[in-house]
Amino acid sequence: MRAPGESDLKIYGLFGYPLAHTVSPAMQDAALDFYGMKAIYFAFEKSAEKFQYLMKHLKSLQLEGFNVTVPFKEIVIPYLDRLDSMARKIGAVNTVKKQGKKWIGFNTDYQGFLEGLKKARFHAKGKNAVILGAGGASRAVCFGLAHAGIRRLTILDVIEKKAVDIVRSYRKFYPAVEWKVQPMKDEFLEPALKEADLLVNATPIGLHENDPLIVSKAFFPKKRILVYDLIYKPRETPLLKLAKKLGHSVVNGETMLVMQGAKAFEIWTNKKAPVEVMRKAMENALHHK
Ligand code: NAP
Repeated sequence: MRAPGESDLKIYGLFGYPLAHTVSPAMQDAALDFYGMKAIYFAFEKSAEKFQYLMKHLKSLQLEGFNVTVPFKEIVIPYLDRLDSMARKIGAVNTVKKQGKKWIGFNTDYQGFLEGLKKARFHAKGKNAVILGAGGASRAVCFGLAHAGIRRLTILDVIEKKAVDIVRSYRKFYPAVEWKVQPMKDEFLEPALKEADLLVNATPIGLHENDPLIVSKAFFPKKRILVYDLIYKPRETPLLKLAKKLGHSVVNGETMLVMQGAKAFEIWTNKKAPVEVMRKAMENALHHK
């Protein structure tokens, strides 16, 4: 029996800063409503200071589970009781679930990324990938590709140290992968792309209308490759437009976005995520707000 005043409403949420453009509440509420659950998902936009203050009081937090996004995916870790094995290897958490009195951290970003590859019918095993950017999203991408059996992974970033850090944290888990780090310069990009089967843009270049093209037309290889841009708005970045025009396969970041949310929903509720419902809610929130 519930104590007087105690509610059976289940509360989920997202912590990050800033959160003005997040579509997670739309996606997760749609999934909760699909099952008629007495539950709601909030976006909690909090500074790092407030977030850490709250995490110190995690035990008394009346949430069933929550997502964390930029810039809290690493900050959250010391406050959790346990990480699942993948989140531990990645060193970043985007989904937290309460199990009994314990808080467990997971990472569904890399799964979301892999679902995008699956949608494009790309099999990573034995292939060569070139990744542009070495920030948070790139970490999930590199882990996902190594986990899926990629043969060679070349990471290019303006700040090489970030790419070196990614390699340093993953090489021990995936020693069979040929890890390469190069500066983001034409003289390195062109030869790397000549041998690539997959190009991933994990930089924000392409988000804004006047952004330059991140890869020159002349650098695209003759053979057909998959070009995967993690950006989901606009739906087609200049990079994807050009790649398509040149006859390459393309995939944008929408599937990654919806599937990281779907996997989180499944972790929290043990129910199959209504992916198409979540995708429609995401599209509405992204493009018809
Ligand atoms: P981030 O942490 O800022 O990382 C971006 C990285 O790219 C930084 O290391 C940045 O270097 C580097 N960079 C910037 N311009 C570059 C260039 N011209 N060449 C090579 N590297 C360059 O951002 P993030 O959180 O990883 O996000 C990256 C992109 O992925 C964003 O567009 C985001 O919208 C998208 N994303 C999509 C999903 C999804 O679900 N589809 C999820 C997460 C992120 P500096 O630090 O020096 O600028």
